[in-house]
Amino acid sequence: MPRPIQALIHLDALAHNLARARAAAPDARVWAVVKADAYGHGIERAYEPLRAADGFALLDLAEAERVRALGWRGPVLLLEGVFEARDLELCSRLNLWHVVHCEQQIDWLGAHKTHQPHRVFLKMNSGMNRLGFTAAALRTAWVRLNALPQVDEISLMTHFAEADAPDGVARQMAAFDAATRDLPGERSVSNSAALLGHPGVRSDWVRAGIQCYGSAPDHPQHDAAHWGLRPAMTLRTRLIATQVLGAGETVGYGSTFRAESPMRIGIAACGYADGYPRHAGTGTPVLVDGVRCRTLGRVSMDMLAIDLTPVAAAAPGSEVTLWGCGPGDSVLPIDEVAHAAGTLGYELMCALARRVPVAVQ
Ligand SMILES: *Cc1c(COP(=O)(O)O)cnc(C)c1O
Repeated sequence: MPRPIQALIHLDALAHNLARARAAAPDARVWAVVKADAYGHGIERAYEPLRAADGFALLDLAEAERVRALGWRGPVLLLEGVFEARDLELCSRLNLWHVVHCEQQIDWLGAHKTHQPHRVFLKMNSGMNRLGFTAAALRTAWVRLNALPQVDEISLMTHFAEADAPDGVARQMAAFDAATRDLPGERSVSNSAALLGHPGVRSDWVRAGIQCYGSAPDHPQHDAAHWGLRPAMTLRTRLIATQVLGAGETVGYGSTFRAESPMRIGIAACGYADGYPRHAGTGTPVLVDGVRCRTLGRVSMDMLAIDLTPVAAAAPGSEVTLWGCGPGDSVLPIDEVAHAAGTLGYELMCALARRVPVAVQ
């Protein structure tokens, strides 16, 4: 028998979550953001349920090739544009749209030989300070691009740093509006957090990433259920042993958890080598046979320990849900596990380890 750990990708949930993005921005076109191998879900698995999107946005040229190989003829956007001049050949060949965020990318375009002009998304740095042209440089960049025969339509784009936080999008939106006021072209500004939390923002193309995968972009302010999102990934395993700790006994490396009184614990076949966060300390939620329990002590490479007090009937073979959908209607939001580990649902999904077998459902 193989080790009992397994990840499930819920295709219906992906389709449902994408539909939520559409409902939140009924007049916009929707990019399904599938970078990082569809946030760990697998581009090939996520493709069918997400193909109701208007386009696929990603970073990696190899991932763009995979989307084309699946038969997608619609828009594909490279969110960071090209990394070197010759990447433009692939853009021409596969008809990829690409972000332009720096002068060098304009130089490369100017020197590129193509029959078909490229659709580009000119990126403004409105305050995130990672990529994009400052307000002062944006117009010159637009004029340069507009003069190039290699360039077709120019759209305008920016990215929010705090769409999920109290400060929100107002400051960046004001900067973007001021810098782009008299420039023509479609706008793409909203990520999931802006799309759900700031529906008043004008974004002709919204970029729906995390919400497609069923995690709340603004957790813990809101949970996924609040936004009508369903888990797209479940990580589950089984108990492979149980132990009884006497008062004063400890469990796991570093003996960080000590039992105050006798208690039953379970050992689940899941550890950090499966992508479960090692920083998840005692008290991280976990389901055993659908009943909410807590982890104990340190997560090791292949195992973790669970307090079985709430589920007396649990035994080796009992189903353990690390995140996602458990037996019956039970659900453990990935965001809660991430929060207990001081991280985000994003990181947990993306970190699912290769050794975990994945099935679709
Ligand atoms: C990843 C990414 C997104 C999607 O963000 P979510 O928070 O996952 O919705 C949108 N825009 C850009 C530029 C990105 O890199």
